Amino acid sequence: MWAPSYDMIKRMSSVSDHATSDRKLHPFQTDDTRLRPIHDKVMAQERLSADDALALYRSGDILAIGWLANHVRERMHGDIAYFNVNRHINYTNVCVAACRLCAFGRKKDVPGAYTMALEEVWNTAASGYTEAITEFHIVGGLHADLPFQYYVDLIAGLKERFPQVHLKAFTMVEIAFFSKIGKMSPREVLIKFKEAGLDSMPGGGAEIFSDRIRHIICDHKIDGGQWLEIARMAHEVGLKSNATMLYGHVENDEDRVDHLIKLRALQDDTHGFQTFIPLAFHPENTPLQHLHSTTGMADLKQIAVSRLVLDNFPHIKSYWQMVTPKMAQITLRFGADDIDGTVVEEKIYHDAGATTPQMLRRQDLIRLITEAGRIPFERDTMYRPVTRTETTVTVAV
Ligand code: SF4
Repeated sequence: MWAPSYDMIKRMSSVSDHATSDRKLHPFQTDDTRLRPIHDKVMAQERLSADDALALYRSGDILAIGWLANHVRERMHGDIAYFNVNRHINYTNVCVAACRLCAFGRKKDVPGAYTMALEEVWNTAASGYTEAITEFHIVGGLHADLPFQYYVDLIAGLKERFPQVHLKAFTMVEIAFFSKIGKMSPREVLIKFKEAGLDSMPGGGAEIFSDRIRHIICDHKIDGGQWLEIARMAHEVGLKSNATMLYGHVENDEDRVDHLIKLRALQDDTHGFQTFIPLAFHPENTPLQHLHSTTGMADLKQIAVSRLVLDNFPHIKSYWQMVTPKMAQITLRFGADDIDGTVVEEKIYHDAGATTPQMLRRQDLIRLITEAGRIPFERDTMYRPVTRTETTVTVAV
């Protein structure tokens, strides 16, 4: 399927310039008086306060909130919508933690528990997809018996076999765990992995930073302060990362606002976050399965509020595995500029009842983006343009 070249994209819509400047915006309309001052701040490019964020969560005027988020999204990215060709690798689901939010982690020796030998990780990396992959996304459970060297060898072995593929691996939660089993500080772990070939880190494990909520959904995990501290360390040693927020369980508006404001404050200090990814909670097969799944309204609003509050995050991603490809497509008009990638094989959310496909082909992503009236832009993990011919894949540097 057709996708424009990077040069063509630059001509059609500048990534850095305000592509909306020559576009006739339809006027902002709302019946919600709380949104008027927020509109004025957004137009003046002023930072939104925690109270503004609360007002956005509490407003039912989703079209007005979407208008504001779309305005910011177009100011930052014009019509471009990013995607990548990636593969997820979940090397083990064995986990010493027992987070109530989780349908993926298993105790060792129970049915369904698995741990990949290193050869298996490398074979998995090479299998199942014919288009050249630009990123491996690697996360797993917290396995009590795997030695620290397993993780170093996993990274080094992948880098040796696939030197052209970006390795985005291990959440802040995994890094904290590895620091215990490796008997070294999280900073030393990060440096060791970087030396072995780690290129950047995903944003998982952040959940909701509030202690009250973490106690209910994931009390075996590091706390929110530790997550933020390890993210800071990763950025300081030169590893970019993403950040996530799991929403739609037992948290309230204040908890979500607190989470966003803490991320924004850290980003002011480090500028190390690339992308924020709100993750819709999937209750099925978890101890919290009595809770409801998120609604379309909540998913749209979460993307839009994230775009408006996280003014220092370059990208807001709508993860199609969580919200469905159809909803991800619509969010491209509600603040999202990225819909993730091909994925190929996903276990964590499918164990929790996600009914989305395991993978989308490159042309599926391009179609979703094009039919949303956006311009598809294949990126690598660092958001550099990827150019493909029949036989080659080139990343602009
Ligand atoms: S969420 Fe992560 S740490 Fe918690 S039980 Fe699941 S795999 Fe383990």
